[in-house]
Amino acid sequence: MTARIDKELNGHVEQVDVLVVGAGMVGLAFACALKDSGLRVTLIERGEPQVFESLGMDCRVSAIVLGNQQILEGLGAWKHLHGEAMRTMRIWDDQQPGGIRFDADEIEADALGYLVQNSHLQAALKKTLLPYDNIEILCPATITKVEWLSGHVQIELEDGHKLAAPLIVGADGGRSWLREQADIGIYSRDYKQSGIVANVRPMMPHHGTAFQRFTASGPLAMLPMKDGLCSIVWSQFHDDVERLMALDDIGFLEELNLTFGPMLGRIEEVGKRAAFPLKARLAMHLVRPRLALIGDAAHTIHPLAGLGVNLGLRDAMVLAQEIVDAKKYDEDWGDMSVLNRYMKLRMPDILSVMGSMEGLHRIFTSQFPGLPVVRGLGMKVMGNASVIKSLLMKNSTGLTLPVPKQVG
Ligand SMILES: Cc1cc2nc3c(=O)[nH]c(=O)nc-3n(C[C@H](O)[C@H](O)[C@H](O)COP(=O)(O)OP(=O)(O)OC[C@H]3O[C@@H](n4cnc5c(N)ncnc54)[C@H](O)[C@@H]3O)c2cc1C
Repeated sequence: MTARIDKELNGHVEQVDVLVVGAGMVGLAFACALKDSGLRVTLIERGEPQVFESLGMDCRVSAIVLGNQQILEGLGAWKHLHGEAMRTMRIWDDQQPGGIRFDADEIEADALGYLVQNSHLQAALKKTLLPYDNIEILCPATITKVEWLSGHVQIELEDGHKLAAPLIVGADGGRSWLREQADIGIYSRDYKQSGIVANVRPMMPHHGTAFQRFTASGPLAMLPMKDGLCSIVWSQFHDDVERLMALDDIGFLEELNLTFGPMLGRIEEVGKRAAFPLKARLAMHLVRPRLALIGDAAHTIHPLAGLGVNLGLRDAMVLAQEIVDAKKYDEDWGDMSVLNRYMKLRMPDILSVMGSMEGLHRIFTSQFPGLPVVRGLGMKVMGNASVIKSLLMKNSTGLTLPVPKQVG
């Protein structure tokens, strides 16, 4: 990466090829996918990410599905990361006997996916970008104005610096500022829940198993991390979250043990906790002339299957591929003819994952008479039917997705 290149055009406006708002996991992955394209990419990030430490580890973790791990490997970022292998997944319901178990052996793979700390993934992506002069990250930097002009989009930073590009990409998260500036509305559903995240130490080794327990008030995930620790994501309605967050560690562990059960022996220690409100959002338009949205700026989903950043990584790869192709064929990559291709390629995956998350959430939180019996039975059937199970597993590992592994 370079220090800012002071190439001033059009009356003190620096011209680049692509502007990106937000250098989170998705914005950085997008920049990585363009590192060899010869394009000048400038990311504007408002601040260093906040790391939520819990038992000495970031408690914001992502389960990277196998297909996306291969993407990160192709980008050159995986070698800078240590991912904890998730070899088995166990899902069960607190109402009925039954349950689903997925094993990596069943798809002849070493793992179903890998758990990484969000701050580590961001650091790995930044490290990958270091040797590239064509990629620049301005941080901390605040954009005060964005204007869509004929043939380009122009932004102004708080320090008065102006930049212009044929395309601006919104990778600025669920409450995207850029999406608002472009006047793009969202479809949104408030789950009236928050996800409590923390790292915990159970008595027994997890052996690379990810556990997900569905309760009437929301799912509790226990994800395998290094040194025998597990990372929890416990989705609960706001009142319960307030109550659980107010408990001391002993009280919290008591409730956690009661909800999770004895699968890993007693959970003995919990680190600092944090809670994040959960909303599903879908931008009404993924693209506008000279604008594309990726990652959480385009969609947010319930974390019950841990797929949010996975969807975002696939957006990043597909958009980067369309831009590289447009450059190759001398097309304007800020034009709707190119951007619509990105939108059309991504919508089926986004809608299908959002639909599945919504369906699962409704099924598992509904107390409609008889439904608990049906879902227990459903789990039993799935647990026994190897064909259905392997299909489900392939989808949740992301192996069947039509996503370019490496932009080129
Ligand atoms: C409890 C919980 C658990 C989760 N678990 C998983 C999981 O296991 N697996 C998974 O795949 N996903 C998971 N997710 C979802 C995942 O965290 C998000 O999908 C992911 O963080 C989205 O990345 P992003 O880069 O699009 O957005 P963000 O991570 O939100 O990054 C946006 C970046 O933009 C910057 N920014 C914002 N506004 C501006 C601005 N105006 N100017 C400049 N910069 C700006 C921010 O500072 C930030 O760096 C979970 C989410 C929650 C809440």
